[in-house]
Amino acid sequence: MKQLDVVIRNPTGLHARPAKTFVNIAKQFKSDIRVLHGEKKANAKSLISMLTLGAERGSQISILVDGEDEDAAMAEIEAALASGLGEGDQLGQASAVQKPAPESTDGKGQVQPAQASAVQSRSAMPANQIRGIPAAPGIAIGPVFQLKRSEIVIVDESCDDPDEELERLKAAIEKARGQLVLLRKQLLTSNAHSEADIFDVHLELLDDAELLDAVLVKVQKKQSAARAWQSTIETRAQGIAALNDPLLSARAADLHDVGYRVLRILMGADEQGFALPDHPVIVIAQNLSPSDTASLDRSRVLGFCTAAGGPTSHAAIIARALNLPAVVSAGAEILAVDNATQVVLNGIDGTLVIAPSEDVLEQSRQAQHRWQTLRSEAHKSAAQPAVTRDGHRVEVVANIGGLEDARKAVQMGAEGVGLLRTEFLFLDRADAPSEHEQFEVYRDIVLALNNQPVIVRTLDIGGDKPLLYVDVPHEENPFLGERGIRLCLARPDLFRLQLRAILRAAAYGPLRIMFPMVADLSEWRAARALVEELCRDLNAPLPEMGIMVEVPSAALMADAFASQVDFFSIGTNDLTQYTLAMDRMHPKLAGKSDGLHPAVLRLIARTVDAAHKAGKWVGICGELGADPQAVPILVGLGVDELSVSVPAIPTVKAQIRSLDFPASQSLAEQALSCAVAPEVRAMMRV
Ligand code: PEP
Ligand code: MG
Repeated sequence: MKQLDVVIRNPTGLHARPAKTFVNIAKQFKSDIRVLHGEKKANAKSLISMLTLGAERGSQISILVDGEDEDAAMAEIEAALASGLGEGDQLGQASAVQKPAPESTDGKGQVQPAQASAVQSRSAMPANQIRGIPAAPGIAIGPVFQLKRSEIVIVDESCDDPDEELERLKAAIEKARGQLVLLRKQLLTSNAHSEADIFDVHLELLDDAELLDAVLVKVQKKQSAARAWQSTIETRAQGIAALNDPLLSARAADLHDVGYRVLRILMGADEQGFALPDHPVIVIAQNLSPSDTASLDRSRVLGFCTAAGGPTSHAAIIARALNLPAVVSAGAEILAVDNATQVVLNGIDGTLVIAPSEDVLEQSRQAQHRWQTLRSEAHKSAAQPAVTRDGHRVEVVANIGGLEDARKAVQMGAEGVGLLRTEFLFLDRADAPSEHEQFEVYRDIVLALNNQPVIVRTLDIGGDKPLLYVDVPHEENPFLGERGIRLCLARPDLFRLQLRAILRAAAYGPLRIMFPMVADLSEWRAARALVEELCRDLNAPLPEMGIMVEVPSAALMADAFASQVDFFSIGTNDLTQYTLAMDRMHPKLAGKSDGLHPAVLRLIARTVDAAHKAGKWVGICGELGADPQAVPILVGLGVDELSVSVPAIPTVKAQIRSLDFPASQSLAEQALSCAVAPEVRAMMRV
């Protein structure tokens, strides 16, 4: 028997993804593999069993391997743990190291979803209008369908023929597997890769050896397959939910979701648990799971509105990938709207109008038409520049996180890269990338852009996204801690290596450097001095250099920075978070943490004024730059460049082409004098 004691350093512990990787490795070996965490013991070949370990970051676990191939199994497990169990960069750094690592007893990391803008006020609205949070753009008009699941009533508690019963169960599992594979494929072709991963987890749960064994034992004792399956799923899901970990609760929901899919098939019930009418509807629900959302029949569902949920939920992300207008977090009152009531769902401004008047209906049809035209025209004219009707040009560039994005950005009409998030190169690994490895990636991205400029943001890491090879002590407030430029200046070895790689790549095309999280002129000076020194060493020309404006102090001091930097790029995700003192990932604050808050707009205006006075340009690289309600205001404020996610490029360009610059300027003026964000959004209603 082999034993390995390790401390889990994955920011989110052994949750679904690393646990799944672990299970997949364990399954390749014949040996018995167990994992111990405190009093708990798990079968390493069962995902559910591994999840119920509740091993968080900092947990000490022991791995016991016993069997004919134990050496090979242990070697592979050890290597996988050292390289982070394959956790993707969305989930931050993931890794485990062999003990001793007694200091790592800090709390959980967090998934970092994208920032969302939202509308929350319920004041000054027509009585028949409910406001939620816009989750996927577009306008849908149609009758309501309240999506409520039919109860599954298990009539047969026992069975006469266990073998036959097990055959029925296996057939149901196979059918469920086929459906999940299809849903996964659909999301992959819509570019919703991480959402497609959810179905990977579902597929893994379907294959869970322990789950199946437990059901088998019950059926052999003549329990009906349906009852045995349901009770096993319930007990396991409750076991995971009882760990009180928000990430694991999501896994409990996944288990429920996939378990009920099989149960419905087994019972011959409606496969989705609800039957859509045979005509197009707008779905209203308390909440939708990812598989609910992905399974919605596009020929019959025009859009959806949920009482709960957030704009960064998987359901919202899937809706965006499937081009399905959606509003979330609209409150329980939507559940009282009768089926077949005519409504207008507006996924751009986040409203649901119930039983609209003829006038509102007409306006909505026009708005819907404008949006559809904009979207289809947008793709046709993606390669054209974004120039307002009266000739004011705004550059539209891409936010990217790798070479694949760079290639897609060019196809989608990007005029360059406004933000290359370099973190992807540093996460998910046990050692820092070498200078050469970094150089090759930066060079390939620069080459992919065919002489269009690429802004490389230096490493923005630390706090919530720790690196295994950078020793950052646990911080109470990671977002206010040693992150971004602060961390790089404190770790010149890491910083120099990255800067040298970037400067070498600059020989292959127009490349600019941008520093994140700059709060103070001294940080800018130190960073610039380092680049100057390295340029001398490398005999390379000095590239253009700028800062991200994402800390309010940088916006307030923009005039002092303006004479020194070559450009500013405003990171509205963080600027909103720090200006409003609202965690950008806080689910309850999602509706209030709005980049269209006049306080944020005033900081943007101040930065633009200071920059233009000094003859410098300003970009926006936060999510706000692609928000259809924000684009006219940002253009009106004089922002010179919008850097947006790759799929948003054509529509942002098309929207700019539909604008009139003086009209946008007066909208911007008006927005600056609003008191709260919902007032700004009300002004921008489409
Ligand atoms: C921002 O803060 O707006 C930004 C673009 O940076 P990130 O989202 O990577 O923090
Ligand atoms: Mg930021």
